[in-house]
Amino acid sequence: MKTQKSIDLSRLKTNKQGEILWAESAGKTVPFQFGEHSGELTIIDYNARKHIVEVQFGELKAWLGVTKIYYCNLEKLFKTTTKQFLYEPGEVVNGLQITAQIWLDKERGYAYKCTVCGHEGTVLQTKLKQLNTGCARWKQHGKGTQDNPENGGENVV
Ligand SMILES: [Zn+2]
Repeated sequence: MKTQKSIDLSRLKTNKQGEILWAESAGKTVPFQFGEHSGELTIIDYNARKHIVEVQFGELKAWLGVTKIYYCNLEKLFKTTTKQFLYEPGEVVNGLQITAQIWLDKERGYAYKCTVCGHEGTVLQTKLKQLNTGCARWKQHGKGTQDNPENGGENVV
């Protein structure tokens, strides 16, 4: 599938020839869409000798050639998908409903509610898909509905 790309550089200063003055654009933001990612890129820095611009989106940062930015070729910024949160709250992954994206000792993880037993816990992103389920109570799955005192005694189906 072709990646949807668009970027709006109209906020950046230009010279009389219409060329963007990157050196004066630090701190400015530009709206963009790149596939499933959209929002505003922040211009961090510019290296005039190499003609590259450092951009930031959330915690992602990359140096990109100026033409890559013109054409919204942001692959380099987003290529390290394993270094991002992969799932959004509300998604069900491996039987776990994600309730929040969290950091667990500097690693990405999620707060979840298990769709099988209702247990609420946390799991590292790297562990989420390793087991039959990432649920910490997975050994109790299949034993039928039971009151779970640690879950406020809620009866879960
Ligand atoms: Zn469970």
